[in-house]
Amino acid sequence: MKTERLPRKIPVGISQCAMGDPVRFNGGHKHSKVCTGLLAQCFEYVPLCPEVAIGMGVPRKPIHLLVEKASAPVDAVRVIGVDDPEVDVTGPLRDYADSVVPELERVRGYIFMQNSPSCGLYGVRRYLANGHGIDSEGVGVFARRLQQQFPHLPMEEVGRLNNSELRENFLTRVFTYDAWFRCVEGQDDQPPERMLDDGNEADADKPRSLIARVIEFYTAYKYLLLAHSQDKTRALGRYLADAKTIPEDELRFEVRGRIMDILSRPASRKDKTNALMHSAGHLSEFLDKREKAELKELIEEYRLGRKPMSAVLTLLRHFLPRSPHSFIHSQVLLAAEPAELGLCEFH
Ligand code: SF4
Repeated sequence: MKTERLPRKIPVGISQCAMGDPVRFNGGHKHSKVCTGLLAQCFEYVPLCPEVAIGMGVPRKPIHLLVEKASAPVDAVRVIGVDDPEVDVTGPLRDYADSVVPELERVRGYIFMQNSPSCGLYGVRRYLANGHGIDSEGVGVFARRLQQQFPHLPMEEVGRLNNSELRENFLTRVFTYDAWFRCVEGQDDQPPERMLDDGNEADADKPRSLIARVIEFYTAYKYLLLAHSQDKTRALGRYLADAKTIPEDELRFEVRGRIMDILSRPASRKDKTNALMHSAGHLSEFLDKREKAELKELIEEYRLGRKPMSAVLTLLRHFLPRSPHSFIHSQVLLAAEPAELGLCEFH
């Protein structure tokens, strides 16, 4: 697996008001410095404002989510005017989401503005016909439609990206989703990138089967996935043991979905420590007694929260050239983590 810094900016969709464009109902914006400053170093944005796109104009009358009762299913909503319930833009917002699907096929993540009846991803306030707020279980209608169209696409809200750990998790998911399309599915009609440098020149130009590419991908991501969920990663390994019996489309969809599901749970320090110890285990035969002790102590310091993960990764990478085994060289866990790219805090 390629472990160098990102070769290009990754296309990511974003609510247009987060870019600082004055497209909100009141003529304002909700500029996010984290998005346009920090994350723009690695993302190429595709900004969309669904409410402007369906012709509501700026400024416009506010809208909100209407439900018949508390805890109604997430799709049992309508988006209506706050002052004029006759205004119903539910259909136009859903149709607009469907219309931008071809344009969004190339994006590898989406950042939505929170608390919006169109773009909110979590906990959008819902109202009864009498105007009383009833619960906060809504999802913006545009965001919801894109969730259905792209069930594995990494998504996050603008406000949550101010939190360094949530930002790291979103970045990890976007980088992985992007790598999946480059390495497994192929991109822009190019053959999928080769992932493992196994030194076999004779095989370098051979087209590899989908199963081979999927298993290479899983292998390279194994320790990163283990750091997020040991149980689900092992279950994925068992699923892949029968890969030859699974139709290709099903295999592609299922494995991509399982990987993105595993990564959606932030990695705990305990599980990261476990993955680092596994990595160290692959190098121990090439280390002398003093080096083994140094590595072991550093991992323990990380477990106790006294050292950042990057300190352990730096030492592991220092020892890595000693191993001739492609498995450990391929591990994405050992590649530059988002904190080392300056995109979130070290922890
Ligand atoms: S939240 Fe969405 S619909 Fe509202 S202004 Fe921002 S981009 Fe437009």
